[in-house]
Amino acid sequence: TSGTSTSSNNDNYDIVHVDLSDGRDYPIYIGTSYSDEQASSMLSSHVHGNKVLIVTNDKIAPMYLEKYQKLLSADQEGKDVVTLVLPDGEEYKSMEILQLILDKALEETLDRKCTFVALGGGVIGDMVGFAAAIYQRGVNFIQIPTTVMAMVDSSVGGKTGVNHPLGKNMIGAFHQPQCVFIDTDTLSTLPDRELQSGIAEIIKYGLIRDAALFEWLEDNMDLLLKRDPSATRYAVKRSCENKAEVVKADEKEAGLRATLNLGHTFGHAIESGSGYGTWLHGEAVAIGTAMAATMSAELGWIDPDLVQRTYRLLEKANLPVELPVDSPMDRATFLRYMAADKKVANGQLRLILLKGPLGNCVFTGDFDQTAMIKTIDEFVA
Ligand code: NAD
Ligand code: MG
Repeated sequence: TSGTSTSSNNDNYDIVHVDLSDGRDYPIYIGTSYSDEQASSMLSSHVHGNKVLIVTNDKIAPMYLEKYQKLLSADQEGKDVVTLVLPDGEEYKSMEILQLILDKALEETLDRKCTFVALGGGVIGDMVGFAAAIYQRGVNFIQIPTTVMAMVDSSVGGKTGVNHPLGKNMIGAFHQPQCVFIDTDTLSTLPDRELQSGIAEIIKYGLIRDAALFEWLEDNMDLLLKRDPSATRYAVKRSCENKAEVVKADEKEAGLRATLNLGHTFGHAIESGSGYGTWLHGEAVAIGTAMAATMSAELGWIDPDLVQRTYRLLEKANLPVELPVDSPMDRATFLRYMAADKKVANGQLRLILLKGPLGNCVFTGDFDQTAMIKTIDEFVA
């Protein structure tokens, strides 16, 4: 990697610093087995004001809410920590549910110096971050991600938002947190499918910019699937470093940041076209990544051996690399959804494709369309 992110190691946690302009730098703590005192003082150092609103969902609340409410209340006297539990699910990442967060904050008379805390996966993180971006024109917030997807991707980089009935993530803002606090022990309760879905994004960092991470994953996938603490800590840290470097270089997605969407244009088409609830995001991205690799080789941009390695690694993570025979996806459905992609500029579809040795990619609209069609036809056959 280019090594622009700064990291430091401690016994049970690492810190990845996200370096942004205008004093918006913030740390990502990545650790295991925190003592209560340790966790409490780390979190409290990023709490502003004396009112805290923790938002989570009804799946996570019984497991972790009381613990974090205590940790956030412990350090300072007179601190008022209130909580809000929302329904669990992507379908609740909406303006209607967001309104409940704003209602709660107003009912509790939270002022501009309060802190919102997002405790959960990417749905909670995106929605609470957006609420923090717009409540009284912006308040502080802390991310406590509890899924792999949220730890390695959604909690880092400041993209926040909710879905609109006409499109996913269509309403939102850039709003950076005060800190991201990761306790990988929370992954012990995460369902296997959710764990694997998050691993798809880790594999993505390897493919687009971190050959060493890809090679490490080839050797250590079993440990990661077993939730081995040090393997998990390493993979999450390395992913956060990669994302932090990309975000530092291109916070508002002028170009480079788009490369984080490897496999996502095909993947979004699969997610939308297969019907709600068929695929988890990372699963659709896995198939999309297989498609991007296949197409890259079809264009002659990568060695066919890299396609094989990509398939093998995805399969090692128990991720899908093809569509099932009964999939409703066909060529027309792919093309329709891909045409609606946010990365279409002036009517031209742009894709992230692999090019060169492992760890290199391009974001381009300059490719032979027949290679794309051929790839789609191979996958829908
Ligand atoms: P999610 O938030 O829906 O979490 C997945 C499931 O796991 C949910 O049922 C959740 O309640 C449950 N869960 C969470 N933590 C748990 C734990 N520790 N133990 C047991 N169950 C737990 O989904 P996700 O995959 O975390 O995130 C997906 C969302 O993130 C999407 O809305 C996507 O748009 C967004 N996202 C945003 C960005 C960004 O840059 N902002 C990047 C990637 C994804
Ligand atoms: Mg993604």
